[in-house]
Amino acid sequence: MAELAPGDTVGILGGGQLGRMLAVAAAKLGLRTHVFCPDPDSPAFAVAAQATCASYEDEDALERFAAGVAVVTYEFENVPAGTAARLSAARPLFPPSRALEVTQDRLLEKRLAASLGLGTAPFRPVDGVQDLAPALREAGTPALLKTRRFGYDGKGQARIDALNEAEPAFEAIGRQPAILESFVTFAAEISVVAARGRNGAFAAYDPVRNEHAGGILRRSTVPAGMEAEVAAAAIEAARAIGESLDFVGVFCAEFFVIAEREGARVLVNEIAPRVHNSGHWTLEACAVSQFEQHIRAVAGWPLGSPARHSDAVMENLIGDDVLAWPALLSEPGASLHVYGKREARPGRKMGHVTRLSARG
Ligand code: AMP
Repeated sequence: MAELAPGDTVGILGGGQLGRMLAVAAAKLGLRTHVFCPDPDSPAFAVAAQATCASYEDEDALERFAAGVAVVTYEFENVPAGTAARLSAARPLFPPSRALEVTQDRLLEKRLAASLGLGTAPFRPVDGVQDLAPALREAGTPALLKTRRFGYDGKGQARIDALNEAEPAFEAIGRQPAILESFVTFAAEISVVAARGRNGAFAAYDPVRNEHAGGILRRSTVPAGMEAEVAAAAIEAARAIGESLDFVGVFCAEFFVIAEREGARVLVNEIAPRVHNSGHWTLEACAVSQFEQHIRAVAGWPLGSPARHSDAVMENLIGDDVLAWPALLSEPGASLHVYGKREARPGRKMGHVTRLSARG
């Protein structure tokens, strides 16, 4: 499969802020981008050489899109399977379809982690209401019921504290196939953003500590303040996941850090087959950002160094937070990113700000 050359076009499915930052990184390397997204208000359209605003089911639009690009990638994991199949028949698709298939489904994702000998929160499949009581008996309470598919930012989840809350919880998540997860008391949440090249090369950025509010990432801090063994275990888990999926591109593995008497250990929570919000700090703190790294990987180019020259704290600007942009522009050392979304709805990621400090 041919490597790309400057001037070639990378096709990107999805036009959110991740697609926007991927397009900017591609432009830095002399590559063009064509963004395909059904939402006319897509932040990535403003920075891509070409844009198609059409449904992911629009076969003609997909065919025209594929004809003009050298490779296809995506910035979100819910690419419909039919779209991925159609595009991968026409052009190389990275990350490969199997990575999508597994990471679109929390049950397959957890089973993959378990098959690799990696810890997860105890989980049970729930295919229908009849599975709730037996699953709860085994998982205990509190527990979390999570839809197998299409969950993000804490959506598609319901907490269950007692058996009589099980049916309402199943109702709340839309009576969809789900998993029931035991609630784990974690000391911290961390993530590893890593890349695999077409040749199998692996590069991981330093693990990051993440803080969420209302299911949405608020802040990522690097270094994560973990023992070296915990950080190494998380990176090794990410490597194993990447290899098992034959991954090409950047992905993110999220973990719970559990404090135990014998020492801390990590449990895999979620795998995102794409650049990730908890890797935005790499734009300022590394010579090669997660976005450039992804473009390099899918282009068949050598991966860059994931080394970090600074400590960093990234904060999301959610909803009206973005109104603070004038003050952030005046703050020494703050690097502001505004995604150019028209409407600042509550819970919507509108931008982020990264603050660097000397490496501790
Ligand atoms: P998720 O969509 O699975 O990443 O879940 C969103 C957030 O909910 C996580 O970042 C955690 O803060 C919390 N969470 C998810 N699963 C569990 C669990 N099994 N135990 C405790 N907290 C959880």
